[in-house]
Amino acid sequence: MARYIGPVCKLCRREGQKLFLKGAKCTSPKCPLESRNFPPGQHGRARSFKQSEYGLQLREKQKMRRMYGILEAQFRNYYKKAVKQKGITGENLLKLLERRLDNVVYRLGFAGSRKAARQLVRHRHFTVNGRVVDIPSFQVSPGDVIQVREKSRKLDSIHQSLRRIRDGRLLPWLDLNKPNLTGSMLEIPSREDIPTEVNESLIVELYSK
Ligand code: SF4
Repeated sequence: MARYIGPVCKLCRREGQKLFLKGAKCTSPKCPLESRNFPPGQHGRARSFKQSEYGLQLREKQKMRRMYGILEAQFRNYYKKAVKQKGITGENLLKLLERRLDNVVYRLGFAGSRKAARQLVRHRHFTVNGRVVDIPSFQVSPGDVIQVREKSRKLDSIHQSLRRIRDGRLLPWLDLNKPNLTGSMLEIPSREDIPTEVNESLIVELYSK
């Protein structure tokens, strides 16, 4: 699956919000958004205009897509799936994205960013219920156990990332056994338990036009 490989801090500056795409740097004073919180480009600083309704919806969609590192076609497929499910479409969309294996690996603290988590999954460092899964978009279900593979247990990047995670910060729908390098999803998260700062209803309005 294709992915964006350009500079990621530009994406945060474009959205005017931290998208947490670079791991530890995002919470340090080195984050460019701390000193240059204006859109990138020659005229970024000068741009000031009232956004249209369409503009607001588009920005919200781009923000969510970029946070989860998903390209347009795949994102639209998630939306189509969300529409077919029971419940609120925007929340369904968010839950589908949260259940991606790369996201769960990131949320458990095995990686500092979703991008790093995706690479770890791609490189076959994890098993789900005892079987190696190297598909970042794999949908994790409640009860699934995600474990670092035996041969990967000494990987520095995993341990460094875990050190940064304090137990209190783990989301309530996840469980982590640090010594065993194992985590699991306890339940499908509710909207309140997903700390993603987006207005998903604007995205639904955009796609349902
Ligand atoms: Fe965004 Fe992180 Fe770059 Fe800051 S350091 S601009 S939060 S990707």
